[in-house]
Amino acid sequence: MSNVEIVSAVADVYKWIDQTMAGKSPDCKGCGNCCDFKRYDHRLYITSVELEYFKHFMADRLRPMTDGICPYRNDNKCTVHTHRFAGCRIFNCRGTENIQADISEQAIEKLKAICQTHDTPYTYTELSKALRNCV
Ligand code: SF4
Ligand code: SF4
Repeated sequence: MSNVEIVSAVADVYKWIDQTMAGKSPDCKGCGNCCDFKRYDHRLYITSVELEYFKHFMADRLRPMTDGICPYRNDNKCTVHTHRFAGCRIFNCRGTENIQADISEQAIEKLKAICQTHDTPYTYTELSKALRNCV
């Protein structure tokens, strides 16, 4: 298993998501409200290969979620925008749920396929638990 190959494959999925989402939702206002999971009553799940990707780029910035707010939100802005997770790229509070659900399903299939290709276990874990497990 090559970590670099997994990272590159996940980057391709993120590129696919960004291209597929383009023009399909109104612009996100970037208010950061949905990154406050507790207050927004929202959950973000990430796959095992996304965590590998994130650890690759954020090795020195891994931190737990302590208060129900994504630890990478600062002043209501995402500080890891380039490397944010699939769910962050797809969710838009002003968008159409069906479109987002469809793209999310396709993205998860692609991420699962990376696990199969690289013989690595597939997991789909809520962000706070995923971060807790890797710090
Ligand atoms: S990674 Fe960025 S966009 Fe995703 S929940 Fe955290 S702060 Fe929000
Ligand atoms: S998706 Fe909605 S709640 Fe989340 S940052 Fe964008 S405008 Fe704010």
